[in-house]
Amino acid sequence: MTVCLTVDVEEWYHDLWPGTDRIISEYYKGTLPTGTFVEPLKSILQMLERQHAWATFFVLGESATASPEMVEQILDSGHEVASHGYLHKDLTKMSLDELAGTEKRNRAVFRKITGEEPKGFRAPNFKVNPKMINALERVGYEYDSSVVPSISIPGWFGYFNAPLGPYRTGKLGSSFFEFPVAVFPHLRLPAGGGWFIRNLGSRYVETAIRLLLRKGLPAIMYIHPLDVYANVPRLEGIPFHTTRRCGDYTLKAIEHILANLDCRKVPIRDLLKEYST
Ligand SMILES: [Zn+2]
Repeated sequence: MTVCLTVDVEEWYHDLWPGTDRIISEYYKGTLPTGTFVEPLKSILQMLERQHAWATFFVLGESATASPEMVEQILDSGHEVASHGYLHKDLTKMSLDELAGTEKRNRAVFRKITGEEPKGFRAPNFKVNPKMINALERVGYEYDSSVVPSISIPGWFGYFNAPLGPYRTGKLGSSFFEFPVAVFPHLRLPAGGGWFIRNLGSRYVETAIRLLLRKGLPAIMYIHPLDVYANVPRLEGIPFHTTRRCGDYTLKAIEHILANLDCRKVPIRDLLKEYST
């Protein structure tokens, strides 16, 4: 039984609700701060150490460039460093050649900091399609974890027909794997992320994870630094649910879930090794 906690490392204002960019830009008077993930990441790393849990950190290339020492700290703590793309934007709108070129450069950013190129990829906002997978495989990635096999939620995500557990995808000999994010089996309601813990409670997420584990499938959870960032500004015009309960409440809730689950907590790279042999 395996739980993979994943952390999408980015600024607090990335991955928010559509249409909030203008409000945030006005708040910061056009100059957005960098490194807002550093403090929350420290709390996440300490929590993982307490729980003897190892995670996969999908780091945005832009954030890795802004704070290479944080990437080194993630690596030194025994976790996996993977890629969240270079910029936090909708990659489905890029041409495949543009995506391949950008990710080739992005992989070099990680190689410079960690000494190796990342195996794993997660698309910003979980926006992925089969053609993109081929481009990612071509530049050297070995797995993706962007598919949320849930009912479709317009503007958010949903790949209703995708398998619930890891599967081979891609073209080049099919050695490329997809590790889908946790959803409720049968109902196919999304359940794997920090937003769900903050808005629907830890029991909702923990129940979905237990149902997946009972089916013999690994459960992939995801959180963002935002989820445990106590200093996130509450701005008029940004929907309440997007920043609800960010901070210590959610850090404790995530820790509670990990402590309750009597199973191993490892990075996705460990699963990849097992599934590909
Ligand atoms: Zn993201």
